[in-house]
Amino acid sequence: MSPGIDFNYDLIEGYSEKDINTIPHAYQAGPQTELLYKQLREMKDGGTFIMVAPPNPFRCPPGPYERVSMIAEYFKKHKPNSRIMIFDAKDKFSKQGLFTEGWDELYGNMIEWIPKSSGGLVTRVNVAAKSVHTDFYDEKADVLNIIPAQKAANLAFKAGLTDESGWCPINQHTFESSIHSSIHVIGDASISGTMPKSGHSSSSQAKMCAAAIVSLEKGWSMPSTKNVNTCYSLVGDSYGISVAAVYEMRNGQIKPVEGAGGVSPKEASPAFRSQEALYARGWYKSITSDIWHS
Ligand SMILES: Cc1cc2nc3c(=O)[nH]c(=O)nc-3n(C[C@H](O)[C@H](O)[C@H](O)COP(=O)(O)OP(=O)(O)OC[C@H]3O[C@@H](n4cnc5c(N)ncnc54)[C@H](O)[C@@H]3O)c2cc1C
Repeated sequence: MSPGIDFNYDLIEGYSEKDINTIPHAYQAGPQTELLYKQLREMKDGGTFIMVAPPNPFRCPPGPYERVSMIAEYFKKHKPNSRIMIFDAKDKFSKQGLFTEGWDELYGNMIEWIPKSSGGLVTRVNVAAKSVHTDFYDEKADVLNIIPAQKAANLAFKAGLTDESGWCPINQHTFESSIHSSIHVIGDASISGTMPKSGHSSSSQAKMCAAAIVSLEKGWSMPSTKNVNTCYSLVGDSYGISVAAVYEMRNGQIKPVEGAGGVSPKEASPAFRSQEALYARGWYKSITSDIWHS
């Protein structure tokens, strides 16, 4: 199984699942992403876009910040008087130094990030007014994007595959559920060591899991597991950054191989960032072709 994620709507007063057609999360693709796109297109120049970023763990750790970057790129071209606020349930985020360096360079002071410790934790939302409320802030948005806290997909709960964390515990070597034997869980729903919940991780886990299932069925010895993940992010159209890691099994857990990975350098040249943007697009082409054999 690779059932993905669902949301925990209990943590913000005044906001629930019935509100997602007004305030999209746009974190499962399809109608939700289309709705956010439409709202951003219709927003006036000089408007305020507010994102509420989720607590850990969640799908695609750089995802919210890459989304903000792409919205800033669009505002800069089409709605330059607009501003962006991120209210965050955390005090740090993936590739933070690289994102903030890029934001300063490309968008000046358009983007304001408010961490949890500075009043970023949204406790209440007024859906009709599109306003968010924290211990220190009461802010009204023109477009509001709430990405709620996350858990394994409801299917995993119904199948009894989750533990008290809300995710699926597994044997990290074979991806077999620690709760129900013969069911293997991969992807965002699984607790796969220190691997981030990403498409690249899920694809890598799928291959290792398939090898494990065949080995179990044939009675072969289990292959040693090596997983891989790269998360490219576009900070601007020609401005890419990345984080990469290779993973191995250590003491029953998937852990990074020391020295086999890292993040893009800080203060790199425009040519370097532009090259990484090219790699990001190449990565997308390569992984989608690998997954769908297109
Ligand atoms: C904005 C954004 C940007 C991202 N960018 C990247 C990136 O650059 N690189 C990267 O590697 N990853 C990225 N990701 C993360 C990536 O999309 C996910 O990590 C990946 O899709 C997880 O795969 P999965 O199989 O676990 O879940 P999913 O892709 O969600 O697949 C689960 C599937 O199960 C289906 N399903 C669930 N319940 C049922 C049911 N009861 N019956 C039938 N079907 C069911 C769902 O409909 C879905 O199709 C991004 C995510 C977002 C939201």
